[in-house]
Amino acid sequence: MAGFETLLDRIVDGMPGEDKAALDIPAKDDGYITPDLPKTAFQAAVRGMRGHCPSCGKGQMFPKLLKPVARCPVCGQDWTAQQADDFPAYVAIIVTGHILAPIIIYMISETDFSMWTNLAIIIVLGLIMLGSLLQPAKGAIIAIQWWMGLHGFEKPPRPDAAETPDKAQGK
Ligand SMILES: [Zn+2]
Repeated sequence: MAGFETLLDRIVDGMPGEDKAALDIPAKDDGYITPDLPKTAFQAAVRGMRGHCPSCGKGQMFPKLLKPVARCPVCGQDWTAQQADDFPAYVAIIVTGHILAPIIIYMISETDFSMWTNLAIIIVLGLIMLGSLLQPAKGAIIAIQWWMGLHGFEKPPRPDAAETPDKAQGK
C-alpha cells in the first residue's frame, strides 16, 4: 500500500492552491548537481516508479498528482519532452484487471455476498488500485522514454560508454 499512501500525500500536498514554482521552467544554472545516472533501463524505471527523477534519483518527479516537473529541481534534467499520454492509464487498467479478475471470480463463486455488496467491493477496490497505479506507471514510462531517447529526449550516456573508446583503441 506504499503507493496509495504516496498518492494520498500528493493529494493532500497538492491541495492549497497552485504551486507556481513547479509550473514555471526555471533556467538551467549552476545550482544543479551532476546526476548519478542510472546504470540500466530498469533502474531508471524504478526511480520513476517511486516518483523520483530518473536521472538523479533524488528530485521529486510529481509535485502534483500526475503532472511531472518541467525540470528536476535537483539535477536540472528537462522533462518537458515526455509524452506519456494515455499509456499510464492503459498500464494501470491492465494490471488492475489481472489482479481483480481472480478476486471477482472468488467473491462471486465462493462467498454469499449480495450482488450489491460484490459490486461495492469491486468498484472500491478497482478505484483504489487504479488510483495508486497511475503515478508509478507514468513515472516508469517517462523514465523509459528518457532512457531510450524517445521524443525530444536526448539519450542519457550509458555507464559503459566510458569503456568503449578503450576497447576500440585496444583492437
Ligand atoms: Zn534529477
